[in-house]
Amino acid sequence: MLAPSHIQRLIERARQFSALAFEAASKADELAAIDPNLWSEFHRSGLAMAAFPEALDGAGLCESSHQADLCTVLRLLGAGDLSIARLFEGHVNAISLVTRYGTKTQLRSLAAAVARGALSAVWGADDAAGLKIRGEAYPSVLEGRKILASGAGLVTRPLVTAEGSSGQLMCLLKLAAEHPADLSQWQAQGMRSTATGTVELTGVVITAEEMIGDAGDFMRQPFFSGGAWRFCAAQLGAVECLVDLFRGHLVARGRAQDPYQLQRVARCAASARTARFWVEEAARRFSAQEEDDDATVAFANLTRTVVERSALDVMEIVQRGVGLSSFIRPNPIERIARDLATYLRQPVPDRAMSDAARAVLDSPLPIGEFC
Ligand SMILES: Cc1cc2nc3c(=O)[nH]c(=O)nc-3n(C[C@H](O)[C@H](O)[C@H](O)COP(=O)(O)OP(=O)(O)OC[C@H]3O[C@@H](n4cnc5c(N)ncnc54)[C@H](O)[C@@H]3O)c2cc1C
Repeated sequence: MLAPSHIQRLIERARQFSALAFEAASKADELAAIDPNLWSEFHRSGLAMAAFPEALDGAGLCESSHQADLCTVLRLLGAGDLSIARLFEGHVNAISLVTRYGTKTQLRSLAAAVARGALSAVWGADDAAGLKIRGEAYPSVLEGRKILASGAGLVTRPLVTAEGSSGQLMCLLKLAAEHPADLSQWQAQGMRSTATGTVELTGVVITAEEMIGDAGDFMRQPFFSGGAWRFCAAQLGAVECLVDLFRGHLVARGRAQDPYQLQRVARCAASARTARFWVEEAARRFSAQEEDDDATVAFANLTRTVVERSALDVMEIVQRGVGLSSFIRPNPIERIARDLATYLRQPVPDRAMSDAARAVLDSPLPIGEFC
């Protein structure tokens, strides 16, 4: 395990990088692209390697003992630029999947690629046809495409899900830097610089070395749903940033003592802190891998609902408290609210909520002791 001072330095570098990302975010939003110099800084800061174990020159952020630190880093990046936080979250998710289900050789190969400047991601979303692996033996070939793939055109080592004869499999691809990506459909309200697009993969040859784990591993619980705390942490960073900007606005405009604004500040502070308690606890439970996997999943699902509610409330309160200027560029509140509203749209929120409700109903425990 890394010395606390080493982790503290990483968090300090994440804080500095977040400040740079915040400065660059307006331009990135306008151009729908993150400045390559910022990516260089990202690699220099140690963040790209941070999720790998220490033995591979990382900081072990994927390890159980460092989930609280990962939570802090995700919050910091979410406060700087939510698009970068999203890309970082995907990168970390891919590394943790390879750590959990892959071989040492596969993890070493990914670490070497990232050390040379590559980024990873998890591309799971499919169109109606889905991505398929043709044939029973390797080398084999992919047929289909991935949609809603963040970092399309930028990520060269994505982990993609694909349907094989034995079920859903994971392939850690090696894409050429010039592999085509279609970003034409990404005319989103927010998260514009995530480069979220369609990547055609028909004809890509995959070898046995690129196959990670066994069929069904990708959605194995409690990791699949329990890991939702990570995107919640990134969203929380943006929520906290909105509250800070609101406070700064009120103080700068001499409006902070108005009783209605005081009420708004109190509601925002309480709401953001409530979300933080939930996210940090979800991260703790995920790392503790408590015996009751269902409870870990239920807690993460409830965390999604709490963070979504907090974000929606804070956005509304801040926009009403600041007024029209919060809708006018280049006020960062305008961009952050667009990004957050977009990034809150995560898969099947109704099912996350209703699964959690069913887990509560099925539990014999008093509600105070549930999950
Ligand atoms: C910025 C950004 C980056 C992304 N990057 C990636 C990426 O890199 N890789 C990746 O794989 N994905 C990525 N995604 C996609 C993401 O993981 C989700 O798949 C997507 O955001 C969910 O979209 P949705 O709101 O349409 O979800 P849906 O799940 O379709 O939900 C829409 C609504 O329909 C409801 N609903 C869902 N299913 C049903 C049903 N069967 N019957 C009735 N109601 C239903 C939901 O509860 C919700 O109310 C990204 C998304 C964003 C916003």
